[in-house]
Amino acid sequence: MKICVIGTGYVGLVAGAGFSDMGNDVTCCDVDASKIEGLKKGVMPIYEPGLDKLVTLNVAEGRLTFTTDVASGVAGAEVILLAVGTPPGPDGSADLSFIFKAAEQVADALTGWAVLVTKSTVPVGTGDKIEAIVKKRAKHEFAVASNPEFLKEGDAVNDFMKPDRVVIGADDKRAVDTLRALYAPFTRTTDRMLVMDRRSSELTKYAANSMLATRISFMNDLANLCELLGADIELVRRGMGSDVRIGPKFLFAGPGFGGSCFPKDLRAAVSTGKDVGYDLAILNAVVAVNERQKQKLGEKVIAHFGGSLKGKRIAVWGLAFKPGTDDTREAPALVLVEQLLAAGASVCATDPVAMEVVRKQLGDRIEYEESNYDCAKGADALVLVTEWHEFRRPSFERLKSLMKQPVLFDGRNIWSPAEVRAAGFSYYGIGRGKGGIGAS
Ligand code: NAD
Repeated sequence: MKICVIGTGYVGLVAGAGFSDMGNDVTCCDVDASKIEGLKKGVMPIYEPGLDKLVTLNVAEGRLTFTTDVASGVAGAEVILLAVGTPPGPDGSADLSFIFKAAEQVADALTGWAVLVTKSTVPVGTGDKIEAIVKKRAKHEFAVASNPEFLKEGDAVNDFMKPDRVVIGADDKRAVDTLRALYAPFTRTTDRMLVMDRRSSELTKYAANSMLATRISFMNDLANLCELLGADIELVRRGMGSDVRIGPKFLFAGPGFGGSCFPKDLRAAVSTGKDVGYDLAILNAVVAVNERQKQKLGEKVIAHFGGSLKGKRIAVWGLAFKPGTDDTREAPALVLVEQLLAAGASVCATDPVAMEVVRKQLGDRIEYEESNYDCAKGADALVLVTEWHEFRRPSFERLKSLMKQPVLFDGRNIWSPAEVRAAGFSYYGIGRGKGGIGAS
């Protein structure tokens, strides 16, 4: 099958590589010429485990190509995926200008029947608008389908190749049959292909992200209560998560959620509710709790040092919004860094893959160290923000010998308070009370 992907970012590149790996003929298009030039030379624009191998293999086999020319990508394609960004507009609603622009370009370039598949996360009703745009310009028959993407950054290739489910929103039989055929190799073992109407499909993506974000904010809210009551959120988490009706996932208290999806998708969902006169009270609260939570780590550091960080050097471990990615969009670490700088601290940060991305944003306002131990050298406190594997079991003895003051802020409750305190550190976690028997 000939496939064209418009937008070669986290979603478009992974999808393009994944579809080509199943034997399809895929062209990935992007307006960013430097990205496309890099990809032609084998340079990945993002860090995603396993992606470089998948791309290199399929390029070598001639199944995956890259271009800035949408018309050449669209020519002859039966499936055209729209995977461009849908960033938040000033009022929180999704900015659909990239999607609509891409739809116009595709409409002008169609050479025969095709299904336009919206992979980007878009508000309910966007499919109708895309259909209207294309209808005005296209000289060929076409269909518009919704096919939201559920991959998670840091494990995107695995998620794409082995999806929990594939949601298809379309009422055009040819479009549904085409997408069923396209996804059949990915759903052989699970057979979880869910076909529904386009509006339900569009809303499904917001509903899934909203539920996941709700669990996180719920736990962060409880963690703050734990601190006031002397309870330990880690014990509470295990106690509630072992109930099969609840399950253990997405119940970790932390520095608030970030990334390119949850914050913007929640704001967009709230805005969609507003448009139709409905107040999504729970999602409003989820957003508010998260905004507050993103300040918590910084507040703890500033409070420890009596309200000012003048002359203090703070080490920060982890800049990406989560492990396994170099994505720092809306990352809690960036909020923390700004708080620390505003309170007068000098900041030294490390991250296994996201440092170059942050260097472009913050330049020399902070220092950067490749090694996490070098980063901790001479620090008055160390704050762990992203739970990369290499940060999970450090030598506390070594850290103590390197740091100026033995103070640890564990933004992910990764370390054992008992062990860390026994090693001579002051320890601050998120929502960790006394713990007692059973606490790690
Ligand atoms: P991204 O910013 O990484 O990539 C988008 C790309 O589209 C950019 O490279 C941009 O240059 C390109 N682009 C914009 N307009 C274009 C045009 N007219 N023609 C060709 N290329 C164009 O974005 P992303 O993270 O891949 O997200 C894309 C969409 O998928 C968003 O709606 C997002 O919400 C959704 N989504 C993202 C994830 C994720 O984990 N990143 C997961 C599921 C869904």
